[in-house]
Amino acid sequence: MTIELNKRQEQILEIVKENGPITGEHIADRLSLTRATLRPDLAILTMAGFLDARPRVGYFYTGKTGVQLLTENLQKLLVKDYQSIPVVVSENISVYDAIVTMFLEDVGTLFIVDQSSLLVGVVSRKDLLRASIGKQELNALPVNIIMTRMPNIAMCTRDDLLIDVAKKLIERQIDAMPVVKETDAGFEVIGRVTKTNIAKALVALAEDA
Ligand code: ADP
Repeated sequence: MTIELNKRQEQILEIVKENGPITGEHIADRLSLTRATLRPDLAILTMAGFLDARPRVGYFYTGKTGVQLLTENLQKLLVKDYQSIPVVVSENISVYDAIVTMFLEDVGTLFIVDQSSLLVGVVSRKDLLRASIGKQELNALPVNIIMTRMPNIAMCTRDDLLIDVAKKLIERQIDAMPVVKETDAGFEVIGRVTKTNIAKALVALAEDA
């Protein structure tokens, strides 16, 4: 969505505000331009939601403000367009190996799976820190002892709205959620959504055309 419109787009908006509904042909006449020259600007203004087009009637002004349009567009974003690759480890690995994996993979959350690759838990940085300040031998301590386990895992699917995932992250006070696919046996982990993905989506929205 365009927050900063170019001069011609502003002119078009003014013309439609005052004269709409008005055809593309008539807008072009007023600007002494051809209909073809105007087409990209009209497409942008329509896609961004400032204008609406009705066949045989013409363009009219929707009256929506930049903030309203930004909100509408934010509410359309889907998990599948912003998710990252998940880092998944077996429930049998040690806490020590989980720490090493977290550093090597450069993530803050690991998803833990069983032998059938189905989701059984989640470990975060704090879980690993907590285990590390105890007296346990980290090489001998299986990660599934300290993980947050099913059914208490907050998850989402590819087709969920990103805004709903963001709300859930806040509610549950967590940094990340696995993107899962439900099977008869359980949940397969197919992606990951973190606060960073949400921040990136916001930036993309603000910069997007
Ligand atoms: P950190 O511990 O690095 O601050 P989080 O805030 O994500 O990371 O984790 C806080 C707690 O919530 C941890 O105990 C972690 O196991 C748990 N947790 C993290 N992600 C989830 C999730 N998607 N569902 C349920 N619990 C989670």
